[in-house]
Amino acid sequence: MRNYLIAGNWKMNCGPAETQKLLRGIKNSDISIPERVDALVCPPMISLTVAANELQEEAGVALGAQNVHFEDNGAYTGEVSTQMLNEVYCEYVILGHSERREYFGETDQTVNAKVKKSLSDDLLPVICVGESLKQRKAGEHQLIVRKQVEAALTGVSEDQAAGLVIAYEPIWAIGTGETATPDQAQEMHKMIRDVIANLYGNDRAGGIRILYGGSMKPHNAEELLSQPDVDGGLIGGASLQADSFMEIIQIAG
Ligand code: 13P
Repeated sequence: MRNYLIAGNWKMNCGPAETQKLLRGIKNSDISIPERVDALVCPPMISLTVAANELQEEAGVALGAQNVHFEDNGAYTGEVSTQMLNEVYCEYVILGHSERREYFGETDQTVNAKVKKSLSDDLLPVICVGESLKQRKAGEHQLIVRKQVEAALTGVSEDQAAGLVIAYEPIWAIGTGETATPDQAQEMHKMIRDVIANLYGNDRAGGIRILYGGSMKPHNAEELLSQPDVDGGLIGGASLQADSFMEIIQIAG
């Protein structure tokens, strides 16, 4: 049985002071995190230390970053390594978000290199895949997402794949207020699980969590999360308020 994972991708929001405030809101919420739900927050790099301190005392919320480099260290101005993320208690790292693919030159190849590096250094990747509206209209969404998943997992063994997370985020649903319908989400999640089963077998595929991302809010979370292959959410806007984030966590439970 897969636990739900409700993850907040804070994107470029919340410096250290705001991070502290938002995390205190989450910790002091009247809603407690149900047993079958894992919670994760992914603040900007500069706020990870503050977040790690805030989350130390049994908050029950895991910490993740939004990117990482695939080399150990060296002359890579502006980048951050897996060791650095380990040092500030990150357990997860979001990789291949469509915003990084679109604005920062992330490719299937760099995503794959980062996935492998993260897995070998005890960071669980949350691998983001998803099609554009144009690709969906052209009927290419399944093919595009299948290729993204296969490329990201190239050279990853079945053992290494344990614990990694896939996030299906249709680009047309990100920040738009428009969501995939529950049927559209289920169709894509099932297809992704089949791709993973082809690579690693049914047992491993059955244990891998596939999150939905794209305008998930308290009012639409239930119908999306009730789909059999939707194992949680990667939440942008609604994760920036403690109330809405905790509400989605409650709904998942
Ligand atoms: P929104 O929830 O703001 O649409 O963002 C989704 C997302 O991109 C999460 O990674």
